[in-house]
Amino acid sequence: MARILIAGAGVGGLAAAHRLRLHLPQSDQIVVFDQNSMHTFWPSLLWVMTGTRQADQVQRSLTTLKERNITVVHAPITALDPTGKTVVTEDARWTGDALIIALGAVLDPSAIPGLVDEPGNFYTLAGAEAVWDQLQTMGQGRVVVLISRTPFKCPAAPYEAAMLIDGALRKRRRRDRVTVEVWAAEPAPMGVAGPAVSGAVIDALEERNIAYHPQQVVSQVNASDRRLTFQDGTAVSYDLLAYVPPHRVPTVVEAADLAPADGWVSVDRHTMETRFENVFAIGDVTGIPLALGKPLPKAGVFAHRQGEVVADIVARRITGRNNGSTFDGVGECFIEMGRGIAGFARGNFYAEPAPAIHAYKSGRHWHAGKVAFERHWWAQWW
Ligand SMILES: Cc1cc2nc3c(=O)[nH]c(=O)nc-3n(C[C@H](O)[C@H](O)[C@H](O)COP(=O)(O)OP(=O)(O)OC[C@H]3O[C@@H](n4cnc5c(N)ncnc54)[C@H](O)[C@@H]3O)c2cc1C
Repeated sequence: MARILIAGAGVGGLAAAHRLRLHLPQSDQIVVFDQNSMHTFWPSLLWVMTGTRQADQVQRSLTTLKERNITVVHAPITALDPTGKTVVTEDARWTGDALIIALGAVLDPSAIPGLVDEPGNFYTLAGAEAVWDQLQTMGQGRVVVLISRTPFKCPAAPYEAAMLIDGALRKRRRRDRVTVEVWAAEPAPMGVAGPAVSGAVIDALEERNIAYHPQQVVSQVNASDRRLTFQDGTAVSYDLLAYVPPHRVPTVVEAADLAPADGWVSVDRHTMETRFENVFAIGDVTGIPLALGKPLPKAGVFAHRQGEVVADIVARRITGRNNGSTFDGVGECFIEMGRGIAGFARGNFYAEPAPAIHAYKSGRHWHAGKVAFERHWWAQWW
């Protein structure tokens, strides 16, 4: 009997677990570990933030995995041992034939003085709800969408957030009394996707009268005065702060010597195998350098495909069946623009010398596509 351990039941971990269950005999054990009992579909947080989704619409219990003969361990992982392919929780130690690390990125607002005092971290469910609480009563003032540090997951999300906030304020007929701005610790939106995609996002912000301030790295947040201070000394006041916090590698991954404290897990970019045989890492926990000198963006679309690729490889090594597969860097992304409109971009991020990404004309059909994908996400596994 083989046993595969999957650390993390987010996007990548779930994709790997379900694909492995298709490949492996029922007698082989697939064990998924997560500190949370619920799976959250993160893209829908942008709709929580603007009032079109409630908390119970964006989460499902992980216990349903048991119906598919996938073992779920609901506990924080306290240690990983890649040499022994071992996962340690407070009261158990599990060893497997292969280990798939899909622990994502830790959100760390405490890395910036004062940021934890602000509730609007819309990369969490509570933060998205807090933004909506403020937004629906806001009569006038200044909304700042802040990208505090790079890298961050879903390069489109903060720009989508600004455009969705714009749309929500227009719907409430408050937009003429509220300014919306993006302050970003990066030189351009979605820079890895190339100048055409970046330019299209900047144009979309301009069309909506959303001011964009790139290359502004926040150094301090004063929540009582509602003021941001940036590294170049610029000070900006706000009435509502919606922010992307700094991201870092999970402590257990760093402690296992799989990544440096200020970095991410290195993997073979096609097989996702780490330097330890039969130990794989997928999704946001990884750092994959691209030819243009920037890393592959952290995104669910990549975590999902990498999870399936790793499942194919592991199953092939165990059963000798299926042709295996490789991760080719292809991905796509919907870009919500508010008021029922979205854009869409797709391409090969492994293309050299630079990713070859095509941005499609925005329209209502892409928004419908994003809604349909959300429905599909739940229907396929729940
Ligand atoms: C607001 C928002 C919008 C987004 N929109 C999109 C989008 O439109 N398209 C897209 O492609 N991507 C999008 N993303 C990004 C996408 O959600 C992530 O890239 C994706 O979830 C990464 O998958 P993962 O499996 O690597 O990590 P995650 O999905 O974050 O899963 C990691 C799991 O590991 C668990 N874990 C971590 N540490 C421990 C521990 N010590 N013990 C036990 N369990 C642990 C966590 O609880 C979590 O369940 C969005 C993200 C956000 C926040």
